[in-house]
Amino acid sequence: QAKQQGREGLAIYENHLERRATYRSQVETRMRLALEQGAFELHYQPLVRTQDTNRIAGAEALLRWHDKELGTIPPDEFIDVAEETGLIVPLGDWVLEQACRDLAAWRAEGLHIPRVSVNVSGHQLLDDRLPRTLAQALKRHGLPPTAIELEITETTLMEREKGSLPLLQQLRDLGVGIAVDDFGTGYSSLSKIKHLPVTVLKIDRSFIQDIFTDDNDKAIIIAIVAMAHQLQLRTVAEGVETPEQLAFLRDNGCDLSQGYLHSRPCSATALRDLLRAAPRDQT
Ligand code: C2E
Ligand code: MG
Ligand code: MG
Ligand code: MG
Repeated sequence: QAKQQGREGLAIYENHLERRATYRSQVETRMRLALEQGAFELHYQPLVRTQDTNRIAGAEALLRWHDKELGTIPPDEFIDVAEETGLIVPLGDWVLEQACRDLAAWRAEGLHIPRVSVNVSGHQLLDDRLPRTLAQALKRHGLPPTAIELEITETTLMEREKGSLPLLQQLRDLGVGIAVDDFGTGYSSLSKIKHLPVTVLKIDRSFIQDIFTDDNDKAIIIAIVAMAHQLQLRTVAEGVETPEQLAFLRDNGCDLSQGYLHSRPCSATALRDLLRAAPRDQT
């Protein structure tokens, strides 16, 4: 009886794995096509100053993909497949190019936005061509390097620390900013962060969400902000959804805020409209 059940369980599990593998290869095929056909889109979410939330201090570029057969697939899902298949390299190149193009178009219109942040995944940090690709994209669009900030998750930074350090340093030497994304979830030690060429810490959404339910999270945020400022790093809070969360962050010295409270990620056109309406931010 037990043996019978075990066999059935295994069959269900194998079936599950098979379906998953099929789905993955479907996603891969459709993703190749989407790259060729230009079906990916970049949306943007503004970053505002906690001291004056009318000022837009930057925007994060976020990939969006709606596929005719598979429907809308969230980035967390297709980025995984892109990483496993190596498609992340051409996709990542496209993201950098598109972000530079959008930013240059806004600037050409006289709209000022200090910088655009672009997410970079672990696989992209294995590619020696990245600094050149980025430098060329900046040059092509007449942008200073300070206009781009690269976001790398804390976990990726810690995993790839040794191998990627020279590449990270090359990117930093170009003059682009480097943000540690989802900070606080990756168990990195202060001494490690200190030796990395980074300019910004983005406090993970999970801490912001629990500010008023978990005293530890309050303490952690206060400690991260203090530590960041000691190290001359700017701080960004992600996933800010309520005025109370914003007030806490502002009162405790966090520099920038990003989240649904201010704006959901929106199309490039919608961001342009927000920029037109916002007072100019000089930083
Ligand atoms: P991330 O870089 O940490 O991006 C922030 C995520 O939080 C975004 O999810 C954003 O829509 C969401 N978010 C923003 N404000 C709020 C809020 O107030 N509440 C809540 N609940 N969520 C909020 P999204 O767009 O689904 O992206 C998920 C992840 O996919 C990103 O996390 C990033 O790791 C990855 N990703 C997105 N675009 C790219 C890309 O171009 N390249 C790479 N390598 N990864 C990307
Ligand atoms: Mg990010
Ligand atoms: Mg994040
Ligand atoms: Mg994330």
